[in-house]
Amino acid sequence: MAVAKKKTVAAKKVARAVKTVKTLGVRVRQTVAPKKKMAPPVETLDRLHAMHPDAHCELDHANAFQLLCATVLSAQTTDVNVNKATPKLFARWPDAKALAKAEQLEVEPYVASLGFFRQKSKSLIGLAKALVERHGGEVPRTMDELVKLPGVGRKTANVVLGVIWHNPDGVVVDTHVQRISQRLKWTRQSDPVKIEKDLCKLLPRDRWDIASHILIFHGRRICFARKPDCEKCGINDVCPSAFRAEKVGRKPVRPSRLPTV
Ligand code: SF4
Repeated sequence: MAVAKKKTVAAKKVARAVKTVKTLGVRVRQTVAPKKKMAPPVETLDRLHAMHPDAHCELDHANAFQLLCATVLSAQTTDVNVNKATPKLFARWPDAKALAKAEQLEVEPYVASLGFFRQKSKSLIGLAKALVERHGGEVPRTMDELVKLPGVGRKTANVVLGVIWHNPDGVVVDTHVQRISQRLKWTRQSDPVKIEKDLCKLLPRDRWDIASHILIFHGRRICFARKPDCEKCGINDVCPSAFRAEKVGRKPVRPSRLPTV
């Protein structure tokens, strides 16, 4: 009985591995590789964490205000570039009260290397003013309050809530998290808000913060957008896109205006 059942399962697998295709008007049966069974996302995340045990937020900061500013500045540029610019910026304007009094023209040279520098300077000053007027210069601790600040979207808010307060309201979805979630088939969505919802359903709340850091580390070091290094990747046995991932994981369209992040 058990042998018969085994045979049925094996037969089904073989049946799935054969498909009919039309070539030059003739229908032919072709054998295709059976689909990989998706591993539980938490297990895959654990394995990725073992590959990147040091995964953490790579934006240099000493407090919530600095992380908030650095995250706003990171739109459309790299953390490395932001980390080069922020030491001088924070040395001159160490907190919201100081930055709220700055003139845009004064701030611009400090962020000139980051692109969108006029808009970023304006955003930083607007953000500092809002922090002073609404929160006494402190960074609020809730998603609702954070996303009401100028230039702050769910992504930035979740970075601060996760990294500083260890209480994220979701998973940070940047270009790396988006691409790898799609490659791992953790989501079929391309909209970051919808991807975040899928990830929140798949992963336990206490992994939301570290999950984004792990995926970002993996995206920066192995699962590159153009040429993912599947050969070196420690989860290539369970990744449904392994060795054919180049076209999986759409990059968001580069906006002509600085988006809220
Ligand atoms: S196997 Fe390839 S596509 Fe899959 S996660 Fe690893 S590097 Fe990315």
